[in-house]
Amino acid sequence: MKSLLVIEDSSEVRVLLEFALEEFAVTYCSHLKDAKEKLSKNKFDLILLDLGLPDGDGLQFLTHLAAQQETKEIPVIILSGKSEISNKVLAFSVGAEDFISKPFDPLELRARVSAKLKKSDRLQSKSELFRVGDLSFQVPKQKVHIVSDGKEESVELTSLEFRLLLTLAKAPERIFSRDFLLGEVWGSDVSVTDRTVDTHIGHLRKKIAKSQCKIDTVIGSGYRFLPSH
Ligand code: CA
Repeated sequence: MKSLLVIEDSSEVRVLLEFALEEFAVTYCSHLKDAKEKLSKNKFDLILLDLGLPDGDGLQFLTHLAAQQETKEIPVIILSGKSEISNKVLAFSVGAEDFISKPFDPLELRARVSAKLKKSDRLQSKSELFRVGDLSFQVPKQKVHIVSDGKEESVELTSLEFRLLLTLAKAPERIFSRDFLLGEVWGSDVSVTDRTVDTHIGHLRKKIAKSQCKIDTVIGSGYRFLPSH
C-alpha cells in the first residue's frame, strides 16, 4: 500500500481527505515540526502540503524538502486556498508536482494523487532497469539477463562481477584501465592486483559468452565493452 504524508491544519479539510485517500496508508500532521519528525523516521511515496500552517510557510518547507537528499525524490502536491496564479508559479518553481485549490472535489484529488503515484512508479522502474545490446540489468537486484528472441536467460554473477560488468557496460567502447576498475569496483581493498581484474574479466567473458556483447582487451590500456560483435 502506498504511504502518504498529509500536512494540513484544517480539521474540515482533513475529513474530506480521509474520504478521498481511504485506499492509502496516510499519516496526518498539522505542524511542520511534526512533519519533519515523521519524514526522518518513515518513508513516504507522496506528500500533500498545505501552504498556511501554524508554525510556518508550506512553500518554504517545500524548498527545504527539495534540497534534502532523503526527500527530494518524493512528489509533493500543494493543497491551498491561496490559488492566485503567482502562488502556483512559485510552487511549481520550487518543485511542486501539482497544485490543488481548495475547495476541491475529493474524487478529483484522489485521481490526481493516483496519477502522480503511477508516474513516480514508472520513473523509478526506468532508473532501475538498464539495457545495453542484448543484456538487461536489474540494478537493485544485481541481476543480468541475456535477451534474445524475446526470451530472457539469467546470467549467474557474483556481486563483484555484477559491478564490474555494469561499470563497463554503462560506457560502451570506453577504454577502462585496470587501475580505474580496481578503484571503482574493488574500492579500498588493497589486497587486489591487476591480475585480479584479468581473472574476473575472464570469468565474466565465459558467463556472457552467449551474449552479443563482449569485453575486449585493449593491449597496453585495459578493457572496453562492445555492445555487439
Ligand atoms: Ca492551513
